[in-house]
Amino acid sequence: MAFQRPDIYRPPSEHDCYFLPLTRGCSNNSCTFCGACGSKLQIRDADDVKKEIDAVSLYLKAGVRIPNIPPIAYMIANEWNGKKVFLQDGDALVYPFPKLKDVLEHLNEKLPQVERVSCYATPQDILRRSPEELRELKDLKLSIFYTGLESGDDDVLSAVAKGVDSRQMVEAGRKAIDAGITLSLTVLLGLGGVEGSKEHVLETARVLSEIDPQFAGALTLTLIEGTPLYKQWKQGTFHPISPFQSLEELRLMIEHSNFTNCFFSSMHASNYLSVRGRLPQDKAKMLKQLDQVLAKKDPSSLRPEFLRGL
Ligand code: SF4
Repeated sequence: MAFQRPDIYRPPSEHDCYFLPLTRGCSNNSCTFCGACGSKLQIRDADDVKKEIDAVSLYLKAGVRIPNIPPIAYMIANEWNGKKVFLQDGDALVYPFPKLKDVLEHLNEKLPQVERVSCYATPQDILRRSPEELRELKDLKLSIFYTGLESGDDDVLSAVAKGVDSRQMVEAGRKAIDAGITLSLTVLLGLGGVEGSKEHVLETARVLSEIDPQFAGALTLTLIEGTPLYKQWKQGTFHPISPFQSLEELRLMIEHSNFTNCFFSSMHASNYLSVRGRLPQDKAKMLKQLDQVLAKKDPSSLRPEFLRGL
């Protein structure tokens, strides 16, 4: 089956990248809350990836378009400042290591102005790579991994079929950081449901603290039609928390996290309130902001449901 270019799904901070697909979908397609659950992973041919790099390089240098290159490549190149590249898709680090190295070497040769490359990486992907391989990738400018921690609670991780436990999460996170790669972790408010809320938050704070990433972002669970978790909700076996309970979870998570120097935010469009700051120094300020909203519980202080995004 011919490789199908994936839609652009990216972390908010990577809006100004060139989006280069290596894969489509996610190898760990089991997470019960995720729209990629059940999807099939597609691996793009490395020669095809290199042809696209050649085409972008030539287009930027001489304005020449090569036939058989998808028009979207030129559309992205037109908007691009040349500095950052994001490797698509859901876990591009699954791309076979020799091919990944080959593609990155080619990228560095043809587009030397690129300052850094980033991708989504599952904990499984990171654990599969040796420390030396991770350092080689870092030297080839693949220097930021975006990884979904989701929860630090083993019961929640198991219930949502994340495929790793909290110990493996910590091992993967530390391994990336020790290789010099910047780590940005996301956690999902509400993933433990009503019954598992407190344990989910406290264990997530514990695991976040043990990994001690440079960036951590809280997202709020959105139940996506067609996913196993959506079905559990409809069957009455999963009980979602309310919007204000998600802010209580956020507050408790910030309170119980101990970071060395982490930019923590809830700026993602799925959240009901944006809070951000550098931890630990901004902890009191962030808790105060949440306390003020939680004291009034005024629905108009929350992002309306129709403006929430995935
Ligand atoms: S690893 Fe990430 S992209 Fe893959 S199914 Fe789980 S949540 Fe979705």
